[in-house]
Amino acid sequence: MIPLNADLHCHSTYSDGLLEPAEVVARAARNGVELLALTDHDEIGGLPEARATASEFGVRFVNGVEVSVSWGDQTVHIVGLGLDPDNAALREGLASVRAGRDGRAARMSDALAAIGIRGAYEGALKYVGNPALVSRSHFARYLVEIGAARDVKTVFDHYLVRGKPGYVEHVWATMDDALGWIHGAGGIAVVAHPGRYRLSKAELNTLFERFHDLGGGAIEVVSGSHHRESTLEFARVARRFGFLASRASDFHGPGESSVDLGGADRLPEDLTPVWSRF
Ligand code: AMP
Ligand code: MN
Ligand code: MN
Ligand code: MN
Repeated sequence: MIPLNADLHCHSTYSDGLLEPAEVVARAARNGVELLALTDHDEIGGLPEARATASEFGVRFVNGVEVSVSWGDQTVHIVGLGLDPDNAALREGLASVRAGRDGRAARMSDALAAIGIRGAYEGALKYVGNPALVSRSHFARYLVEIGAARDVKTVFDHYLVRGKPGYVEHVWATMDDALGWIHGAGGIAVVAHPGRYRLSKAELNTLFERFHDLGGGAIEVVSGSHHRESTLEFARVARRFGFLASRASDFHGPGESSVDLGGADRLPEDLTPVWSRF
């Protein structure tokens, strides 16, 4: 049997993606995606446009979001799938997370000014599609524009990750709040790209245990934004905890993402896909 081409994690201009929601969906359809979730960072404003376009193209659509969470001194991303975008607590919770982004961007800009890069906030704003959602990606695009580094990936490595001059600490949602909002809106919570966190095996295990205790249901076993070699490791985690398995490109835009919509590897066959719920 040919498995469903599901892609349950990607971004539009409502957060740090390069394409409008309708363009994301059209591209997904062209790429053969049969089931798609749009999961903008801390934002669900793009869902109506994406859903309407998916219906035109005959692509099944799942409402999604990617919530920024502080876990100890790390940032962890939790995707919510199949949620009701009209749920008031979810909307208020996401608004509260977004509200911190402006101040953070100003602090990032100050940090970059201190090493001689002035006007980074204004520069980043040129790349922002949603004024409530200024992200490091927008700063990265501006830093490429002024020649600070050759591409977005290099800008991150040299300027925008912890220990580098443009990085500032920030407090996001708690894990409890994020799962509370997702579950309250009828959704299922998914740990995004678990292979990307700077956590030891033991620390990751603690994260999965807490996530499981809070009713978290799935993890991205296959993600375009962690290494392919991580698939086997997280397939084992899914089996051990009884998590459903998700498959995700984490597509942000042509030229910026190495994995295109619908282009991630297939899930290992013995796992239960998270889309068995939809
Ligand atoms: P923010 O939510 O503002 O902290 O931005 C996080 C986003 O930055 C992620 O969702 C990615 O799109 C992007 N990002 C983070 N780390 C990297 C990296 N090393 N290379 C390229 N993009 C990155
Ligand atoms: Mn992103
Ligand atoms: Mn992420
Ligand atoms: Mn993402």
